[in-house]
Amino acid sequence: MATLPIDSRVSARTADFLTQSQRMFVDGRFVAAASGKTFPVYNPATGEILTHVPEAEAEDVDRAVRAARRAFDEGPWPRMTPSARGRIMWKLADLLEENLEEFAELESIDNGKPLSVARAADIPLAVDMFRYMAGWATKISGSTLSLSFPGDFHSYTLREPVGVVAQIIPWNFPLLMAAWKLAPALATGCCVILKLAEQTPLTSLRLAQLVHEAGFPDGVINILTGFGEGAGAPLAAHDGVDKVAFTGSNEVGRMIVKAAAGNLKKVSLELGGKSPAIVFPDADLDRAIAGTASAIFFNHGQCCCAGSRLFVHERIYDRVVEGVSNIAAGIKLAPGLDPSCEMGPLVSEEQFQRVTSYIQSGVDQGAKVAVGGGVGGDRGYFVQPTVLTNTNPRMKVVSEEIFGPVVCAQSFSDADLDAVALQANESIYGLASSIWTNDLSTAHKMAKRIRSGTVWINCHNVFDASLPFGGYKQSGWGREMGEEVLNNYLETKAVTVAL
Ligand code: NDP
Repeated sequence: MATLPIDSRVSARTADFLTQSQRMFVDGRFVAAASGKTFPVYNPATGEILTHVPEAEAEDVDRAVRAARRAFDEGPWPRMTPSARGRIMWKLADLLEENLEEFAELESIDNGKPLSVARAADIPLAVDMFRYMAGWATKISGSTLSLSFPGDFHSYTLREPVGVVAQIIPWNFPLLMAAWKLAPALATGCCVILKLAEQTPLTSLRLAQLVHEAGFPDGVINILTGFGEGAGAPLAAHDGVDKVAFTGSNEVGRMIVKAAAGNLKKVSLELGGKSPAIVFPDADLDRAIAGTASAIFFNHGQCCCAGSRLFVHERIYDRVVEGVSNIAAGIKLAPGLDPSCEMGPLVSEEQFQRVTSYIQSGVDQGAKVAVGGGVGGDRGYFVQPTVLTNTNPRMKVVSEEIFGPVVCAQSFSDADLDAVALQANESIYGLASSIWTNDLSTAHKMAKRIRSGTVWINCHNVFDASLPFGGYKQSGWGREMGEEVLNNYLETKAVTVAL
């Protein structure tokens, strides 16, 4: 295979990883695809190939599922003491933290995000997730129950791992999504097959090396690279899998549900969003302007919870739209590794085409471009941060998830909170929202009226391993993070003893 150019800004360790022959992780071993096939991984800032990774297909999926099955049915993981499980998970978090800089560089070069963001957000949040869930391993327990059934009984519940779990993740926060999925499953005693997004496999392949070093028993964690159709679909359909956990588009979410129907797997889904950011006239406007701009432009808008619908009271609409537009105009587009980078390229050419055609469709349907609307640079997948005005709910840009740095501004006139909530709730999605006001009563009343799994007040995109995250309506089934996510990976067994 030809030697590939490596960005001179990466550290020697990152360069070393990129020159290694990439392998998947199955049954505790680093392996090529059974077919020997590989596929290229691109740097979205240049469109150049970074490396090649194995292309898993049905046979590789089957090997990984068998390994996880053995590790669960015969192996030590679910039988290990919770404390021992927690310690290995904690060790993984420590190793990840020790290698933070290398992971941040890999994430930046693979996904396109600013190195500063990967360093401050993606990697530390992944570390926290493993630590938070390592703590839960020793705190999972059932309860004793008081029966009214005639007789003398002692009844209690056991909380047991659901079994072998298939996890399929997207490309927007590659390592963090892996941590959100792996950590709770491991804490409960499940064994896992993780299928990475084809665009961004690098940090999780590096993670596999740390999984090995941390001392996880063989088969507990299996990590596959491949395409949705070739690897994701057979994984979601595999009879050896007890549960599938998916994050991605609603379209593929529906396919997962169908594929899981064969052996009636448990399914949890974290899907799309079209989150409203609602600014009331009494808000601290400087804070609201900076906050709602960040709500959409953080991670280039490639967030399922991005504040992509900006609702502003008509009295302050012009000021807020102007403020957000000024911020957008000042955002520096550059490759993620460039120290001046505030927004990198979108993740792939496909995503670039998708986002730019959404902007065009908005214009075709009558939206006005307040700022942005174009592409940046002469190579790479850069799209300018864009503010669209004159938008309405019948436009595709308002009703569909764009997953790019594009916000649609609308005004509201009503003082009636029910009417404002009705407007904000006009979406098939219900993932997140933010409310910007200095009135406590407005804040809490709106928090109740908005139909979404997360409500932020005077902030947006605040994530913590302890905060449950997931969707109402078509934004998904179940929750990630917090104590709540454990329910995705646990069965409840009722035990009754006649005394
Ligand atoms: P997808 O939903 O296609 O991809 C998510 C994951 O599912 C990837 O690992 C993908 O594999 C895999 N996958 C694809 N097809 C199948 C299948 N038939 N069976 C099992 N797994 C499958 O998202 P895209 O990457 O295509 O992005 C498209 C749009 O989805 C975005 O523009 C955005 O609107 C939305 N999206 C939402 C996300 C969220 O967090 N809610 C995250 C990412 C995207 P692979 O990529 O390797 O082919």
